Amino acid sequence: MTQTYMPHVTIPPLDPPERLLMGPGPSNPDPRVLAAMSKRLVGHLDPYFVELMDQAMGALREVYRTASHHTLPISATGSGGLEAIMMNLLEPGDGAVVCITGYFGQRLAELATRAGADVRVVEVPPGEIVDPAEVERLLEAKPAKLVAFVHLETTTGACQPIEPMVAVARRHGALTVMDCVTSLGGMPIEIDALGVDAAGSCTQKCLGAPPGLAPITVSPRAMERVKARKQKPHTWYFDFQLLFQYWGETGATKKRAFHHTAPISSIYGIHEAARLIVEEGLEARWARHQEAHETLVRGLNALGFQLFTPASHRAPTINVVSVPAGLDEAKVRSRLLEMGIEMGGGLGALTGKVWRVGVMGHNAQPERVDRFLGALGEAARAEGWRP
Ligand SMILES: *Cc1c(COP(=O)(O)O)cnc(C)c1O
Repeated sequence: MTQTYMPHVTIPPLDPPERLLMGPGPSNPDPRVLAAMSKRLVGHLDPYFVELMDQAMGALREVYRTASHHTLPISATGSGGLEAIMMNLLEPGDGAVVCITGYFGQRLAELATRAGADVRVVEVPPGEIVDPAEVERLLEAKPAKLVAFVHLETTTGACQPIEPMVAVARRHGALTVMDCVTSLGGMPIEIDALGVDAAGSCTQKCLGAPPGLAPITVSPRAMERVKARKQKPHTWYFDFQLLFQYWGETGATKKRAFHHTAPISSIYGIHEAARLIVEEGLEARWARHQEAHETLVRGLNALGFQLFTPASHRAPTINVVSVPAGLDEAKVRSRLLEMGIEMGGGLGALTGKVWRVGVMGHNAQPERVDRFLGALGEAARAEGWRP
């Protein structure tokens, strides 16, 4: 006798609420990107998809302003791309100097440590940036294979100037590794002109796509070091040599070795997101983010709020706002969410002390910033805020 199997759960249909995502990421993707991601699937070795992979790599080279062939979206979120860079560039025993301006700098140090490196750090209080002279002192005391830093530290809003850091590393024969997860696509970054050796970002902040991929770029100089490794990296999934056999080593050959099944729909998404960026023009996009940021800061000041980050280290894409004493930051945030708008709270040492407001990708538009400001004022007043 057969019994009818009854499921033990009821699964309601998907119905995500409408949100304006003004936190530290994800940001709302451009509708064209979401449409691209729902296009029909092809196989991951289909000639059409192989062609699309080449196009996506070319588009990312534009976004990074680099000629390096070794520019591709890693199948992971931003953290995975940075992990891939550290695991491939560092061998056990290598020296690494890591700049820590907040939570994400600490993470870079953790990644380098797990790659087996001998890690030395320069750490500064929240909101501050690292003085390259401090890095130089460490490199003079003992050489290192690489210097790693976060361009824009999302937890504090502090933006580390790229050029002086690259100059110091170069003087001492070290590679530079940069986390540009919150900055790529939203403010000036030109990898080749700046001489950065490896950089990693994500799709869900200023590039305007959902989370899921980690666009990275690796310079020829850094790839030489990867090829000269004495031992294979302790990661198979993120091994650059294997990944580039799948993504194509020269771009000239269409021959690809199966490595893993690329997240095809996500690649559709980044392809469209990068196409949008090239269409808009990087300079115009950077200016749009700057303008939206200025609108935001004027509005915040009018509401009686100040930015936490010193003016000299600020960047447009992530705005860290000091929460005045006596105002319950979490209650304001939940009121805002009830109005359909998300912003971020503080992390680590800044928990309970700041809000984090992203002006990223498709959301870097004055109308969206105005809507955010109107709702923030209402939520804060409801919690008793009187400037
Ligand atoms: C968001 C963020 C990350 C982590 O990226 P995921 O895509 O969440 O893995 C890393 N570094 C910085 C600076 C970030 O803002």
